[in-house]
Amino acid sequence: VASQLNSSGLLRTQGLIGGKWIDAYDGKTIEVYNPSTGESIVNVACMGGRETKDAISAAYDAYGSWSKITAAERSKFLRKWYDLLMAHKEELAQLMTLEQGKPLKESMGEVNYGASFIEFAAEEAKRIYGDIIPAPFSDRRLFVLKQPVGVVGAITPWNFPLAMITRKVGPALACGCTVVIKPSELTPLTALAAAELSIQAGIPSGVVNVLMGNAPEIGDALLESPQVRKITFTGSTAVGKKLLAGSAETVKKVSLELGGNAPCIVFDDADLDVAVKGTLAAKFRNSGQTCVCANRILVQEGIYEKFANALLDAVQNIKVGDGFSEGVVQGPLINEAAVKKVEALIHDATSKGAKVILGGKRHSLGFTFYEPTVVCDVNNEMRISREEVFGPVAPLLKFKTEQDAIRIANDTNAGLGSYIFTNSIQRSWRVAEALEYGLVGVNEGLISTEVAPFGGVKQSGLGREGSKYGMDEYLEIKYVCLGNM
Ligand code: ADP
Repeated sequence: VASQLNSSGLLRTQGLIGGKWIDAYDGKTIEVYNPSTGESIVNVACMGGRETKDAISAAYDAYGSWSKITAAERSKFLRKWYDLLMAHKEELAQLMTLEQGKPLKESMGEVNYGASFIEFAAEEAKRIYGDIIPAPFSDRRLFVLKQPVGVVGAITPWNFPLAMITRKVGPALACGCTVVIKPSELTPLTALAAAELSIQAGIPSGVVNVLMGNAPEIGDALLESPQVRKITFTGSTAVGKKLLAGSAETVKKVSLELGGNAPCIVFDDADLDVAVKGTLAAKFRNSGQTCVCANRILVQEGIYEKFANALLDAVQNIKVGDGFSEGVVQGPLINEAAVKKVEALIHDATSKGAKVILGGKRHSLGFTFYEPTVVCDVNNEMRISREEVFGPVAPLLKFKTEQDAIRIANDTNAGLGSYIFTNSIQRSWRVAEALEYGLVGVNEGLISTEVAPFGGVKQSGLGREGSKYGMDEYLEIKYVCLGNM
């Protein structure tokens, strides 16, 4: 696959700084692996602080002109980029499956989803309106201008190698910002291919820069630079907190999408089929490796047995394998550390009384494949309920009343995705309002879309991405007072 992709010109291994593809200054590289086979795909440039400083300078230089062209012009560039992403959907999806492991069909879905943020940004670029405020004095006029924040540092994870980048870069560029992107070292190839397409779209040199390598060093260079006015990050809560603290020195604007601990609450009055289908989608997508994956499945006692049996049947049918194989719906986990974490959480849960009723071990395919798993008799004190599982494990917790469900669901420091299944309109409103979460799916397990705001409360993050609200993250508000008229 790699050599095929190479001939399409989208297999890039260098960093992109100021419109030029370049090696690390000291020539260092890092390997990118296929998690499905453990084989090395290719080596990419391993960059650090010096390259980051140059990327920031390039972005700063480009900012002057990019922020001054018209919104309509920026919109056209973004539209072109979107068209190219869609035209290269298959190659991008192949790269993604190769480095990330998700089934090809899911990768194709992510290209659609990822590209949609660029399309939306192209449209929204033209709608960044200011305001005129009725003045309290007759000889004054008060105006509100919206202006780009400046150079943006975007740090992204491996679970959505394209969408986590476009969700940040689309609105940033639409608003007139320029960006320095640091994708995950585990999945840089999709990011580099998308960057190559941004060049082909004619987006001027320096507007989009990409580098990867020594993450803390790149992160520190972004944090230290007074020219970087905004940090936008998706990843672990621990790294997010470091970036927030590190932004204090230069008082940067910060957006964070951090870890979740999504409750999926199935009430007695739920439609069983809808609840099972929704739970499957919310839990097993991307092998359970998303921050909005159902982490705790809370099931009311009246429907518990029936739901557990129906879920078991459905999970048994999940076909595990290499993402390029026909019919596979669950690929490998990203790396050995991810499997070890799942094993530790299962071990902790079973040692405290939980029962594995399906799976619960590494898959016979080897490497980092893990069996689709269902665990019963879980409680909210076990590590599996306190930490993000990030694997194909469905832990079931039994509850009695609506109040219990809300209390258990909110008993966490996280607050990103949540799901409820009920056929009562009143209950759905009551519970949706009571959940301390940024997103609530009612009778629906997949709710992310570019047109709706995505983001968390409590320690799940700051700010929102996607939708018209996501644009504000890249804008400053300026008040202009015209006096003595
Ligand atoms: P995950 O568990 O999803 O890998 P991480 O928070 O470790 O979450 O990684 C998300 C992104 O943050 C990756 O691009 C990673 O390289 C980057 N990263 C990790 N540590 C740092 C750091 N100290 N400074 C800046 N970025 C970092």
